[in-house]
Amino acid sequence: MPEPRNAAHPAPVTPNPAAAVAIVTGAADGIGWATAQRLAADGLRVALLDLRADAAQARAAELGSIHLGLGCDVTSEESVEAAVAAVLERFGRIDALVNNAGIGDQTGPTTEQSVQAFDRVLAVHLRGTFLMSRAVARHMLQAAPVPGRGRGAIVNLGSIASSTGLPARNAYSAGKAGVLGMTRAMASEWARAGIRVNAVAPGYVRTALVAELERKGAIDAAAIRRRTPLGRMAEPAEIAEVIAFLASDRASYVTGALIPVDGGWTAFG
Ligand code: NDP
Repeated sequence: MPEPRNAAHPAPVTPNPAAAVAIVTGAADGIGWATAQRLAADGLRVALLDLRADAAQARAAELGSIHLGLGCDVTSEESVEAAVAAVLERFGRIDALVNNAGIGDQTGPTTEQSVQAFDRVLAVHLRGTFLMSRAVARHMLQAAPVPGRGRGAIVNLGSIASSTGLPARNAYSAGKAGVLGMTRAMASEWARAGIRVNAVAPGYVRTALVAELERKGAIDAAAIRRRTPLGRMAEPAEIAEVIAFLASDRASYVTGALIPVDGGWTAFG
């Protein structure tokens, strides 16, 4: 039986200049990097966007010269517009967008949360998802539909915080619930135009974001493992697998959905 493909063992792919194009934000690290690897292994050309241009370029080079690494702050309209224009200039098309860029809560208890920290978390998750989706959809809506496939797919990063309460994660929970609202609104708006919009809702994933929360004492890794029915945190590649599915034609009848990838966290209360 062939081994399943995953981000750690991408299948060799011959670069195809006519291949579909995906943008992944926050692609230098964690889930974004695993997703970029997974999409490249599926044969897509990938534009890796991240706050740190040098890190994005280094990751793109790791994947191969057909891919593109760009600096982009998803909270900045100017930066987003410039990055999307650069992707179109290089590839001439955008078939999929993964709104992955994200940050953890800056503080714990709501009573100690600063307005600046609250606004920053919402800006990355909400304004970032809005700005990127708007810029990419303007292009997708003009592109000719591909028979049986439509014009494109957008995948947003929700969280278990999109639909459940997490103590001391006020701004993050507001942001992720907002991402779910935006996913449904955009899916309804663009369904007839052939653009599918979905969200994944990961539980805890072993990335720098979670390591930082653990270092600050904001989460307890052992308690999370006990609380998770599958008994462990996810690896980034396990989230990337579902994102790649939603971004592909394999999910051609899925839109407006929030897919839990949480080891059973939300299903078993
Ligand atoms: P990481 O911190 O590992 O990676 C996030 C990446 O996004 C980093 O490269 C970061 O750059 C980049 N980034 C941050 N802000 C911006 C910005 N304004 N513009 C562009 N890029 C930016 O995070 P994860 O991989 O853990 O998380 C990815 C997504 O998944 C997030 O949306 C997160 O909320 C979500 N998620 C994560 C879970 C987890 O357990 N890890 C669980 C559920 C959801 P830099 O390093 O320079 O800041």
